[in-house]
Amino acid sequence: MEAIQKKDIRALTREELRSFFLERGDKAYRGDQVFEWLWKKGAHSFEDMTNLSKSVRSMLMEQYVINHIEVDHMQRSKDGTIKNAVRLHDGLIVESVLIPTSKRTTACVSSQVGCSLDCKFCATARLKRMRNLNPDEIYDQVVAIDRQSRLYHNRPLSNIVFMGMGEPLMNYRNVLKAIDKITGDEGLGMSPKRITVSTSGVPKIIRKMADEEVRFKLAVSLHSAIDEVRTSIMPFNATFTLSDLREALEYWYQKTKSRITYEYVVWEGVNDRQKDVDALVEFCRFAPSKVNLIEYNPIDDGDFRQADDIAIDMYVDALEAAGITVTVRRSRGKDIDAACGQLANKS
Ligand code: SF4
Repeated sequence: MEAIQKKDIRALTREELRSFFLERGDKAYRGDQVFEWLWKKGAHSFEDMTNLSKSVRSMLMEQYVINHIEVDHMQRSKDGTIKNAVRLHDGLIVESVLIPTSKRTTACVSSQVGCSLDCKFCATARLKRMRNLNPDEIYDQVVAIDRQSRLYHNRPLSNIVFMGMGEPLMNYRNVLKAIDKITGDEGLGMSPKRITVSTSGVPKIIRKMADEEVRFKLAVSLHSAIDEVRTSIMPFNATFTLSDLREALEYWYQKTKSRITYEYVVWEGVNDRQKDVDALVEFCRFAPSKVNLIEYNPIDDGDFRQADDIAIDMYVDALEAAGITVTVRRSRGKDIDAACGQLANKS
């Protein structure tokens, strides 16, 4: 006899759960009870749902599973950063990071197992993209980090960045569903303004986000405003060129009036010339923007090296002179390979 493929009950909405019980001649509020167990109380087993009768629990068990993540391994850095290796229900692993500063705790979460893109400087790019994360797997990473923030830093999570493994706009629908749950009253009730989706720049989806009037923030990993250079380090730029990206970002700004953040690393011999600086200043002019100059953390082969302070100062001076906000961000969690671009399931 063929085994019945059980469905993940967490894929059902509250309404679907209510209908499920109604269709079986039971009360709709049973659906609410199950929903609360799954989302408010974080139940990992039907056995835990103690206000349901034994027969209801068995019936659910026959038809459904509760897929959930497990923090398989946790590493704590000297600076308070925590890196989690998160095991998914099918055994695959992704990583997520808690980044504390004096004022905030930020969760950096993954959206794909591996990545569909192939940025040359990124450790995740070495892993083949295995699959997209589903909305619950993204949401669960946030919940796990919120717990760690309360436990180790005595405060709730304050911000979320989609800057872990994967390109979030290549898994846009699921990222959006996860954000709905994170911001919804039935989830964490967090403000969308505290969430940043960081993309390498997929013009079509940026336009879609603008049309859907999403309320979270947008960051773009730019790293160069010269097509040739950007294509050499981010090969998909040959398809999604800077002019396409710029048009999409202009559209985004017209629709949302939300400032764009550019993430930018300066590498020795790659983008440390005056003409690289000038191109970035020019690229930033069309809409209010902010540039984060991020410290680079070398990955194993060491092909990319962070440029010296002279190059960084050259960028800072030119951006400030053009009236563009610029910050220089030091990386955290370097001792546990939890810094930007280092997530590669090594732990
Ligand atoms: S930098 Fe981001 S988009 Fe590029 S390969 Fe790494 S995870 Fe993917």
